[in-house]
Amino acid sequence: MAAVKVAVVTGGNKGIGYAITQGLCDRYNGTVYLTARDENRGREAVAKLNKLGYKPLFHQLDIEDQGSINRFKRFIEETHGGLDVLVNNAAIAYKNDSTDPFGKQAEDTIRINFFGVLNTCRALLPLMRSHGRVVNVSSSCGHLLRINGQEPQAAELRTKLSSPSLTEEELCDIMRSFVKAANAGNHYELGYPNSCYVVSKVGVSALSQIQQRTFDNDTSRVDMVVNHVHPGYVDTDMTSHKGPLTIEEGAVGPLYCALLPPDVKEPRGQFIWKDCSIVD
Ligand code: NDP
Repeated sequence: MAAVKVAVVTGGNKGIGYAITQGLCDRYNGTVYLTARDENRGREAVAKLNKLGYKPLFHQLDIEDQGSINRFKRFIEETHGGLDVLVNNAAIAYKNDSTDPFGKQAEDTIRINFFGVLNTCRALLPLMRSHGRVVNVSSSCGHLLRINGQEPQAAELRTKLSSPSLTEEELCDIMRSFVKAANAGNHYELGYPNSCYVVSKVGVSALSQIQQRTFDNDTSRVDMVVNHVHPGYVDTDMTSHKGPLTIEEGAVGPLYCALLPPDVKEPRGQFIWKDCSIVD
């Protein structure tokens, strides 16, 4: 008998992640895990979904805590023996009027939005079974053209980031160099933009393409797909509720990618817009 399929959403306790979890409960033929860094907030969200008739399971997962990632990995491995859908939704964004030093904003944003996603993937992707779907929630900010620091350094960075031979380690070095430069105050001269969030999401988008290439060369599993998605400008805490879209509308693109049918030709390793179209 085939194993029951398993889907996991990070940062599922509120915002777009909550709506993705709800949508999966509705449409995914398998077990759905709502994960959250805070156990109380996570369990409250599960209770809220239960009242609507949905039955997600809960597990704690803080993507910036390697211990938490390892515990979750062990749990999934022991309980289900594998994983089928992973939605990397959890992220942070400093507010535009934050008075925290730019270097600190860079450290926090890159640590969670980029390295948190990377470390979660390094732990969970080996558990993924054939026909697995990985959805990295990026942003329109993840578009390479948003690397708009000083030229020609910015152009060099864009070339490096879009190279089909870019490795995970090289990408990590670019992210670490940004944090170092942000602390030193010369990130703009080195070609980086003045937004930590933009750099983190460009990192997530570049990572998605590396992950797709790695799966394509992995003969142990078939039909593995990684896409990165811009959910649109959504009414959540992250946008101080200024986005015009509802969380359900923001979940449309991520759900489309999570629910792609077996052996789909495309999108594979692509950037998906909120209306599910493919962006170059
Ligand atoms: P919210 O701020 O509403 O929700 C973010 C979620 O991520 C929360 O559940 C939060 O948990 C969780 N989170 C943050 N850090 C961690 C961590 N270390 N470990 C686990 N969970 C964590 O944001 P949105 O719903 O708006 O954003 C969801 C995704 O969509 C993000 O990737 C964001 O970058 C992206 N996006 C959003 C847009 C928008 O317009 N809203 C536009 C483009 C992209 P907690 O409640 O504990 O803080």
